[in-house]
Amino acid sequence: MPNKEKVIIIGAGHSGGIVSILLRKEGFSGEITIVGNEELLPYERPQLSKSYLKGEIEFKRLQLRSKEFYEEKKINLVLGTKIEKIDKNNLLVETNDGRHFPYSKLIIATGSNYRKLPLEDSKKIQYLRNKSEAEKIKSYINKSKSLTIIGSGFIGLELAAISLEKNIDTKIIELANRVMSRSVSQVISDFFYKKHVSEGADILLGTKVENLSEKNAEIEVLLPNGSRISSDFVIMGIGAKPNIRIAEEAGLLCNDGIIVNKHCISSDKNIFAIGDCSNQHNNYFGGNIRLESVDNAVNQAKIVAGFLTNSSINFNHVPWFWTKQYNLNLQIAGFIKKKYESKIVGSMKKNKFAIYHISNSKLRAVEAVNNPKSFMRGKKLIQSQEHITDDLLI
Ligand code: FAD
Repeated sequence: MPNKEKVIIIGAGHSGGIVSILLRKEGFSGEITIVGNEELLPYERPQLSKSYLKGEIEFKRLQLRSKEFYEEKKINLVLGTKIEKIDKNNLLVETNDGRHFPYSKLIIATGSNYRKLPLEDSKKIQYLRNKSEAEKIKSYINKSKSLTIIGSGFIGLELAAISLEKNIDTKIIELANRVMSRSVSQVISDFFYKKHVSEGADILLGTKVENLSEKNAEIEVLLPNGSRISSDFVIMGIGAKPNIRIAEEAGLLCNDGIIVNKHCISSDKNIFAIGDCSNQHNNYFGGNIRLESVDNAVNQAKIVAGFLTNSSINFNHVPWFWTKQYNLNLQIAGFIKKKYESKIVGSMKKNKFAIYHISNSKLRAVEAVNNPKSFMRGKKLIQSQEHITDDLLI
């Protein structure tokens, strides 16, 4: 019997691209259309703040698949087109140029976008989410002598590492009292802080930005104590928020992301949400959470492809993340909480170690620096939830 399902995917990013690929891999024979507002084939973003920005790899390497792949697999790509409205009663989506696409199943994969401070706009203030923004930052980095980065999350620090490697005078302004404060333990924060300072970064912690203004050829950051920091350009890296306007307007249940169940189904049974725009219960976290990672984008794409093709689904996946700064590759699995006990193995001096986070004799999280073996071991132990003894943590 021919499959009459019509799947529309909103967003040709990481999760949107992967879910289309997996649907075909699992034998889905209905129609698949991806509508994406960027003009580009689905691509992965992590290298935009790493090797692509350094000029080490070509953009083609970031594309998930070639144009021919989508043609061969009969995956329709409608690029450079934004979905403005979801009409869930009539099972239709409407594009910015007035076209309508009917669906039987809709997958929202609209990702997230950077937070902006309500400050003056200037060409000298850059954000990083997509290829064209990476190109602009690349050109600034290649011609500038000084840079101020606002925010010391993963992206801010990855950019700082590249900027310092290029001998640019680099300042980082962070509101919290430690770097990467939302995602890593104090020990890892301190370790990376020291590394950045030793490479020449000037990091101001616990510091708020009052205002930004252009002054001659430079841009000035005004701090609450009245002091000013001037540089050739500024990069903002102060976190992201989910792209959920169309979901909210359609009346889907949202709370920091589109609320979905374990199958990634939203409050409407025909609509799924995956990737950065979704918010889902996570057993390892012990509540609902919105994750911004490639791992989550791929895992949720697997869940939806599995659901729509009646294939098996792994619901015990342990979430993980990585960042690369200088020669330090940090991998994190599970969720870190302050109250957990921790055990450090390996050598911080030699830049190769791991921190295991334990509670009630169970492993809850692992942070590993240049130590993929301990990372993999930790990830397995988090999943198995077996009783932890010291000899297991090596
Ligand atoms: P995206 O890949 O962002 O795709 C969403 C797409 O939907 C975008 O193309 C967007 O333009 C489009 N869209 C939005 N609204 C509409 C609409 N209404 N109509 C049509 N299209 C729409 N993760 C890691 O795990 N490790 C890393 O080291 C890492 N580094 C990163 C570095 C950078 C610079 C960035 C930006 C992200 C990084 N991430 C990293 C995060 C990771 O890339 C994201 O979590 C992942 O891309 C999420 O996939 P997604 O499909 O949800 O969103």
